[in-house]
Amino acid sequence: MRVSLIAGNWKMNTTVAEAVTLVSEMRLGLDEIDNVDKVLCPPFISLAAVRELIKGSSIKLGAQNLYFEEQGAYTGEISPLMLADLCQFVIIGHSERRQYFNETGKIINKKVQAALRVGLKPILCIGESLKENEAGKTGEVVTEQLRSSLAGINELDGLIVAYEPVWAIGTGRAATGKQANETIGLIRHNITELYDKEIARDLRILYGGSVTSANAAEFISQPEIDGALVGGASLKAKEFLSIVTQTSAMRGHFSHID
Ligand code: PEP
Repeated sequence: MRVSLIAGNWKMNTTVAEAVTLVSEMRLGLDEIDNVDKVLCPPFISLAAVRELIKGSSIKLGAQNLYFEEQGAYTGEISPLMLADLCQFVIIGHSERRQYFNETGKIINKKVQAALRVGLKPILCIGESLKENEAGKTGEVVTEQLRSSLAGINELDGLIVAYEPVWAIGTGRAATGKQANETIGLIRHNITELYDKEIARDLRILYGGSVTSANAAEFISQPEIDGALVGGASLKAKEFLSIVTQTSAMRGHFSHID
């Protein structure tokens, strides 16, 4: 059974005080919905405060990045061990990290391994650029990104994949449900080849890229799509709540795809 999951990536937005206000606005509404996993990913500095606010609720917490070493002289970095104490999920390989911070497949692979080692659930982001999409290379690119990110990893315990076409992130130009479903089907097929049918069947794969309350249903209604990674719309309590509510109503639980 794949339980649907909606994660909010707040990116580099909100002070600690603003994070507290935002969580306070949606905490009760989110907590009432118990058939969808709800994950908030605030900036590092707000993790502790948000954790206090959601204590005892069904809301889960995630970070937006980590470094792959456990400790040491890495000024400014945050280690998997530090996060394992605070949250359950961590976004890895977001296209903004690949684009602005030169994260390569090798680095992302190390980060996924580091997260899994301490029991964090990685939300591994993959997706093609506009140029690659227009050149018909979507399948090739996501396959390569998936394979390099998972190289040498035998157990996917808790891993989640987010298909995020780069051209759809923060642009207001979402993919269509059909396009996203097709690519996510291909990602699942790759998992079958790399691992096995059961692992592929149980892996949760999200769509991300300009998801709002107005278009969420188009993605949630697709058989291969298990939820969404939401950026901009997760900074508005009403929007995020509406996306989670629609997910709960449409497909609280997913069946196995045989
Ligand atoms: C994201 O940051 O992962 C994302 C999908 O952003 P947005 O929803 O704003 O496109």
